[in-house]
Amino acid sequence: MESLQKYNKTYHFNNAKALVDKGDTQSLRYACLELRFLIEAHVYERLLREIDELPKSVINTWQPSKAVRLHGKFDKYADMDMHLLLTCPSGESMDIHYNNIKYSELNKTYNTLGSYLHLPMPEKVNSYTISKTKIIELLDKLEKLTVGNLIIYKIDYKTFCCKACGKNIIYTDHYVETNDSIVCQNDNCGCEYAIINEGGRSEFSLDYKGLSCHICTKQIAVPYSKIEDGYKFKCDYCSTEFSFELIIRSDNPKP
Ligand SMILES: [Zn+2]
Ligand SMILES: [Zn+2]
Repeated sequence: MESLQKYNKTYHFNNAKALVDKGDTQSLRYACLELRFLIEAHVYERLLREIDELPKSVINTWQPSKAVRLHGKFDKYADMDMHLLLTCPSGESMDIHYNNIKYSELNKTYNTLGSYLHLPMPEKVNSYTISKTKIIELLDKLEKLTVGNLIIYKIDYKTFCCKACGKNIIYTDHYVETNDSIVCQNDNCGCEYAIINEGGRSEFSLDYKGLSCHICTKQIAVPYSKIEDGYKFKCDYCSTEFSFELIIRSDNPKP
């Protein structure tokens, strides 16, 4: 359990609170650092509990905001509040909470805190202050993370074998329902598979099959990893030649 003690949210929260109470610029800056540690402890404590199941790409991501975003791709409950009510036959009950902050919000807070961890630029050095009110606001927002117990709603992690490197690729139902492709999590491989959901089953294909030949109308399979500007390929049936051309369009209408 020693490793869990390394992630002590209350310790960092209390440090931050004491520094905010001091209130000078330097203390407020260090309070921001402690609050970033609090966020890191919150994220890493959760990942540590599933370290053997989660893809390494999630575990080895040092930025908590990115780790949570990746984790959320596999586990839709990753950044949700949890609530567990245990009731005895006698009627006594126990209510347990696990407080979370949505990853988009957590990310924003982490970056805001990070913006205070720099010295002011020369242009602003004479007028630079850190707003105590702002830091108190962030402290109050993060306090909920120190209350409650870690609750994990266990989801099923599944695997399939990568054709390129032979290592297992981890996925979940949530991932295949919400993504078009998955990348092999072996750092030395990185092969990208198209996800094809058909009749309640998911298939992983190294070929993208969303194209059809405009001459013979047959489907054309292109290796997913080759979809890039300039890649040339032929229709297997009528030998018509094609190439990809990257076109950038703006989503905004002309002013
Ligand atoms: Zn692979
Ligand atoms: Zn053709």
